[in-house]
Amino acid sequence: MSLDYPFTELPLAGQRFKVAEGVFWLRFPLPFALDHINLWLLEDTHGWVILDTGLGVRRSREIWQQLLAEQLDGKPVTRVIVTHYHPDHLGMAGWLEQHCGVPVTMSHGEWQLADSICTASDAQTIERFKAFLASHGLLGDDLNKVAGKGNGFRRVVMPLPKSPDFIGEGDLLLINGEPWQVYIGRGHSPEHLCLYREKDHVLLSGDQVLPTISSNLMVRPTEPEANPVMAFVDSLTVIRDALPKDTLVLPAHGLPFRGLHARINALVDHHSQQLEQVLVACGQQPHNAHDMLPVMFKRELDVQQMMFAMGESIAHLNCLLEQGKVQREERNGIWYFAA
Ligand SMILES: [Zn+2]
Repeated sequence: MSLDYPFTELPLAGQRFKVAEGVFWLRFPLPFALDHINLWLLEDTHGWVILDTGLGVRRSREIWQQLLAEQLDGKPVTRVIVTHYHPDHLGMAGWLEQHCGVPVTMSHGEWQLADSICTASDAQTIERFKAFLASHGLLGDDLNKVAGKGNGFRRVVMPLPKSPDFIGEGDLLLINGEPWQVYIGRGHSPEHLCLYREKDHVLLSGDQVLPTISSNLMVRPTEPEANPVMAFVDSLTVIRDALPKDTLVLPAHGLPFRGLHARINALVDHHSQQLEQVLVACGQQPHNAHDMLPVMFKRELDVQQMMFAMGESIAHLNCLLEQGKVQREERNGIWYFAA
C-alpha cells in the first residue's frame, strides 16, 4: 500500500500551517508513546472553527493561549468541534468553551460516554475495570497496574463542555459558507465525527482513518458484549464507498495523505488477519483474551499498551463470537473461547 504524503514539513510549535483552502494544521504534543495530535483550524465567515482540542493539561492550555493570541488574525473563535470523546481530542473543549464563549459541537454518543465516564468515582472505575479484565484472564500484578489507577479520564478532560450542540450522521455543517458533510465512524469510539468537504475532497478523519497505525478498538466494561471490530470495519467501508480515491485525508495523528481507499482496505485486511490468527489459536485449544496477547502482539507491552492490547483482544474474540465462529465457556470466573 503506498500513500501519497503531500506535505513533508510539520507545522512549527504554536503556528498554523495551511493544507487546503481555509484549512490549517496545528500540532500539539502528547506525553505518550504517541507523542502528538493534529488539530485543525477552519476559516469561518467571521472567525475560526477549531476541530479537536488537545489533552486537558497545562501545556495544552499554554499553547492555546499563544495560538489564540497570535494565529487567528485578531478574529474570534466561532465554534469548537470535537471528533470523539478521547481525552487528546476532548480534553481542552470545556476550557475553550469557557475561554472563547462559544458552543462545543459533538455527537450525542460521544457526549454521553464522556459524561458517564466523568461521573464515575475512582473506586467504581477500578472495581468495574478490574472485574472485567479479570474475567478475561488478566490477573495479579498486571491487573493491578492496568486497572488500579482510578479515573484517569477525569484528570485530563475536566471540565467537560457544559451544553454541547449535537450533530450526527448525514448532517451538513456550514463553515465559511461551504458545506461539510458529517460521516460517522464507529468501533474506535461510539459515534466518531468525520467531516468531508465535497468541493475539494477534504476529509477531517480524526482517529477513524490514520495513515500508519490502526486505531485502537476497545471493549468497555460497561458494554462487555460490544463488537467494535465489525462496527469499525462497517463504518470504514461506508466512508470508502462514499468518498473519492483522491480525497485529502487530514488525520489526528501522523501526516496528511492521499490514498483513502488503499488505507481503508489495508485496515480492513489487518483486522481480518487478526481475526484469522485468533481463530486459529482458538482452534488449537480454548483461550482467554489474556492468552491471546502474544498471538496478536509480538512486542513487549508497557502498562498503557497492555490495556489497549486487552481491549483489542477482547474485541476480536467478541467479533468471532458474534459471527458464530467461536463458543465461549466460563471456567473459574474466566471466559474461554474455543473454535
Ligand atoms: Zn481516539
